[in-house]
Amino acid sequence: MPAFDVAAIRAQFPILSREVHGKPLVYLDNAATAHKPLAVLDASRRYYEEINANIHRGTHHLSQLATIAHEEARLTVARHLNSPTPDEIIFTSGTTDSINLVASILGRAGRLKPGDEILLSHLEHHSNIVPWQMLCERSGATLHVIPVHDDGTLDLPAFHRLLTERTRVLALTHISNAFGTVNPVRELVAAAKQVGALTLLDGAQAAPHLPIDVQDLDVDFYAFSGHKVYAPTGIGVLYGRYKILDSLPPWRGGGEMIKKVSFSGTTYNNLPFRYEAGTPNIEGAIGLAAALDWINRIGLDALHQHEQSLIRQAAAALSALDGLRLYGPSDRAASLSFNIDGIHHYDLGTLLDQMGIAVRTGHHCCQPLMERFGVTGTIRASFAAYNTTDEVIQLAAAVKKAAAMLR
Ligand SMILES: *Cc1c(COP(=O)(O)O)cnc(C)c1O
Repeated sequence: MPAFDVAAIRAQFPILSREVHGKPLVYLDNAATAHKPLAVLDASRRYYEEINANIHRGTHHLSQLATIAHEEARLTVARHLNSPTPDEIIFTSGTTDSINLVASILGRAGRLKPGDEILLSHLEHHSNIVPWQMLCERSGATLHVIPVHDDGTLDLPAFHRLLTERTRVLALTHISNAFGTVNPVRELVAAAKQVGALTLLDGAQAAPHLPIDVQDLDVDFYAFSGHKVYAPTGIGVLYGRYKILDSLPPWRGGGEMIKKVSFSGTTYNNLPFRYEAGTPNIEGAIGLAAALDWINRIGLDALHQHEQSLIRQAAAALSALDGLRLYGPSDRAASLSFNIDGIHHYDLGTLLDQMGIAVRTGHHCCQPLMERFGVTGTIRASFAAYNTTDEVIQLAAAVKKAAAMLR
């Protein structure tokens, strides 16, 4: 058996055998969401069929089994991120939720004052812009933006100029969802620590493709979504350094996040439960653990090599086409963004869909970045474990055909 058996992987994804508009589905929108393997679907189903109950408060047997499964899922996530303790793993509904959690509690704690600065980059997804703008409105802090070069990489000298003693937070995407740029996050996090800034990485695009080691990155907060790592929708993770999280106030109030409630006052629970008010997405957490186990059985290195090979083939095939412009650096990961001169991304995407090829068109929740490059959007093909060289060839042929029809 070959080291990376893509046929065996595809067989584990029931949705890949369906047709779209009478054509076999070629799914290249993995940066928006990935499909789920049987291992994940089975884990979710088993949860409901065998142990469904609310967690943490029941004395009954099923409640105990559900609690154990939920906390084992937290351990799996902690191991996957090399987090020193599972108490630093907060289950959220996704990356957006995780970043809002951090921005909100920093605001509630009054950690930012007028004159303080939050530094992010021109590559950010709206999820890593808007919560910080809201924090600026609330605190009087100001937002500063690391510019990007024409090849979609960060302007590092500008980063070092923008990073000062006034910088309280560096919030940065690990991999750009729009261009596939892999940021040198370890180096940037280390520089931010030197000036005493808190650091947050948006790992929504990195988690499906790279091993993540929060201790090696030495980052304070790391956020990612389950649905992009082959897990169910509605579950996500916030890793937060214990000392920092423990010094911050709660976010949402409700059940589970308290120690004792009375009308004269309430005391709050320990980490991680303080940040998990209400009944959590139990099935989602269990599905996420199953997805991480599935990824680790394949191995992130093998997965990454496979995806890198596909993206290089796609870049080579597409750049041979007339008037085609690729965005981002040549060593991009997972996502390939392009446009064709004189053709609207939406029109091209619509024709590709008719041929069974699912790509993303538009601004990819990165309007400031699109504006920087003078476009309203791009066409983005993004790759996962189950994509094949044959699909890359189909993509290039379909783009060529669609462009000829639109010219
Ligand atoms: C998808 C994505 C998000 C938002 O994730 P949600 O799952 O929608 O919360 C944030 N940042 C990046 C880089 C993304 O790709």
